[in-house]
Order: sequence, then structure tokens, then C-alpha cells
Amino acid sequence: MDFQSLGLIDPLLRAVAEQGYDRPSPIQAQAIPAVLGGSDVMAAAQTGTGKTAGFTLPLLQRLEPGKPAASRQVRALVLTPTRELAAQVGESVAEYGKYLPALRSAVVFGGVNINPQINRLRGGVDVLVATPGRLLDLYQQKAMSFDQLEILVLDEADRMLDMGFIHDIRKVLRLLPKQRQTLMFSATFSNEIRTLAKTLVRSPKEIDISPRNSTAERVRQWVVTVDKRHKAALLTHLIGEQQWFQVLVFTRTKHGANRLAKQLESAGIEAVAIHGNKSQNARTRALAGFKSGDVRALVATDIAARGLDIDQLPQVVNFDLPNVAEDYVHRIGRTGRAGADGEAVSLVSGEDQKLLKGIERLIKQPIERRQVTNFEPPAVADIPDEREPRSRPNGSRSGSRSGPRSDGASPNKSGQRRSAPRGADGKPAPRRRRRRGGGGGGGGQRSGNGGNRASRG
Ligand code: AMP
Repeated sequence: MDFQSLGLIDPLLRAVAEQGYDRPSPIQAQAIPAVLGGSDVMAAAQTGTGKTAGFTLPLLQRLEPGKPAASRQVRALVLTPTRELAAQVGESVAEYGKYLPALRSAVVFGGVNINPQINRLRGGVDVLVATPGRLLDLYQQKAMSFDQLEILVLDEADRMLDMGFIHDIRKVLRLLPKQRQTLMFSATFSNEIRTLAKTLVRSPKEIDISPRNSTAERVRQWVVTVDKRHKAALLTHLIGEQQWFQVLVFTRTKHGANRLAKQLESAGIEAVAIHGNKSQNARTRALAGFKSGDVRALVATDIAARGLDIDQLPQVVNFDLPNVAEDYVHRIGRTGRAGADGEAVSLVSGEDQKLLKGIERLIKQPIERRQVTNFEPPAVADIPDEREPRSRPNGSRSGSRSGPRSDGASPNKSGQRRSAPRGADGKPAPRRRRRRGGGGGGGGQRSGNGGNRASRG
């Protein structure tokens, strides 16, 4: 199947071709005709499945022939849970709509000056991408109204509820005309989401392309068992030894993210923390640096990382396991996107055992355990691989010469450590090489530049 056969108009097909997409992803193949046909849609799809194009392309096509937005009016509203996601969706709208110049779009979110946003809305916009809080502020300031609204998209509805936006969403819904097309996207469809959906969509086409809580098949997952105190040193070691050049690291707390970023920096690894206490400008700068390759490790809390779209992000590390097992699925969904390979590594200490079991129950598969020489946990906190119990005592695999460091200091930079993550069979783990800006590398479906959407300048 190709994009043409979905009934998309030429200006959109050209934009899609420029993105280097050869064929529609499964969510696009189903959502695009449904939206073009005017149906409400409820789609279960995680980020990384191409859902943004799945709603943006047909939305633009439906708006194209209509009357342009009048002053302070909005024709299509896309609500997203986070500022970063809003910015990314906004970029997609601009990108896919570049050959439909009559359609105007804007992105609004909090944490930045509201006045330029008010000015932008003055002439009316056809597509507005917004986070709920800022949208309501703008409405109260009479920056826009919704008499002309035709389409509402709720992106990552599950995360909006998790983040406590339900009241804001309900307030927004009360402002919108009842007669409209509504599209709702969510990684999962919990009972709570279904309840919300009842008030939102009418006889929706239901699309479900991802079995619930399945983890991306193309993501290789393994855990390293390690003493909690040595996690930072282990991460430093792995980044160097495995040659991870773009790694998204998750910590449980903002404080933990700051601390780890500092530890990595002092070990010579360019790292930046991104979390809710950072200003929007700092968050945007951190993300841009990470996408361009200047920042090697982006250390993030769950909320900050949600929805980040970095093309072909090769590596995710769970420095801390998430408290909620579902978040593991979201986190590792940052990699292995749109057909590319990815790897997700979790650093697991004795205290994390329960969380790890919970995750394995949720994803219905065991995750391979590995140990790294010099970083083996003390026997009592060790987590044996259930499928293949270890037969050798700690440290007997290779010439362990020194104990792990207790701080985030870099292990010896000349790479003399002879340790390598090993599988249960004792063989060295396969290595992935990915050099910054190296492009190509196979696997990705995007054309040539090997870069990221936001780095195009
Ligand atoms: P999303 O799930 O919308 O966040 O998209 C994830 C990534 O997939 C983005 O980097 C898109 O640029 C990319 N993408 C979207 N559609 C396709 C497609 N049909 N083929 C290849 N990549 C795509």
C-alpha cells in the first residue's frame, strides 16, 4: 500500500515523499481513510507508530477546501499533554502542510510569554496545537474562540489523564461546538479513557494497532544487575564501552536527574537534565542539543520525556525503574520507532526486584539479565536469571581488577577495562555503533539526512 491509495491530495503526498516515508504505517493506513471519511476516531497507538501523521495529514486535507479561519477563530484544535509534544506536533503540521500555504497553524503552550501567542491568534488559525492550561488562559484573555471549530484531536489522552488534565479537558470541551469531528489517540484504553470517550466521540471508528502494553518488538531489552551505589559509574562505563552517542536516561526524580547529569558531566560525558522544574527555554535548549548531537546523554523524568520524538533514537536507559510498570512501556517506546532498531537497558539493584517483576508481568516476557565485570552486585542483592541460573560466582568471568567506584567518576577513559556486558550464555553482548550524525546505518525509513526533525535548522 502507498500513500496515494489512501486518497491523499497531491500537496500532502509531496510533503510525505519529502519526509522519505515509503509507505503508510499501520495506524496511518487505518486512520487516514477514516478521518478523510469524516468519522470520529478512537485509536490505540503509542508514540513511535506514526500516529501524528495519521491524524495531521487527513486533518489538513479536510480543512483545505473550507473557509479560512476568521479573526481569532480556530478550525482544528490539537490538544497535547506536554509542551514538547505540542512543539513536535506543531512542527509536523508545518512540515506536512508546507504545500498548503493557505492553511495557517500555530502552537501555544505555557512557560513562555503569552503575548506573541495572542498576536499570532489575532488573524485566526486553521490548526492550533495547544496544551490545555495555556489554551484556557488564552481563551480567558479572549485571544480566540471556537465558533468555527470543525475538528478536535486529543493526543495522548491517557497521559493527559495521568497528568491530571481531566478538569481542563472538560472545561475546553464545554467551549467547543457539539457538531464537530473528534479524534482521540491514546497509548492504552483504560476504563477511565473509555468513560471520557463517551462524552467526546460519536460512533467512532475504533483502531487498535498495538496490543495492550506490548513493548516495541524491535527494541532489544536487557537489565544489568548492579549495586545501587554504583549505578552512575556503571552508566558512565556503559556509555563509553558500548559507544552510545545518543542516550535518553530516565530517573525517577528531578533531583536524581540533576545529580546524574552532573555526575556524567564530571566524567566527561556531555549531559543535560530535563524535567518539570526547568524553564521552558532550558527544556527546549536541552532537547535541541540532544537532537543535534551536542548533548550525548539527556537525563529525564517521565513527564519531561513523554512524547519526545527523536528520529531513530538508538538507546534508552532506565537508571531507575519506573514506579508504575506501564511507564516502562512508554519509556522504551522512545526507541525502536517507525521501523528502526532500538535498545533499552535498565540498571536494576536489589531494591528494584519487585518493580522488575511487575514490568515482566505486564509485558508478558522475561527480560534478559546481564552483569558487567567489576559492577556485579553483592550476592545477596543479586537477581538470578530465572531461565538460566548463573553457575559461576560473581567476578569469576573475567579478570576483575578493581572494584566499582562509588561515585559517578568515569571508568578509565583509555577503555582498558576488559568488561563487556554478557548474556546468560557468557558471550559478549552484541555491540551497536552509532556515531553522531552518522546517518544511514540502515533500518530507518527516513531519507538521507539521518538527522532529527528539529535539527533541520
Ligand atoms: P509518531 O508516532 O507520530 O511520534 O511518529 C514517530 C516517527 O515516525 C516520527 O519520527 C515520524 O517522522 C516517523 N514516521 C511517521 N510516519 C512514517 C512512515 N510512514 N514511515 C516512516 N516513518 C514515519
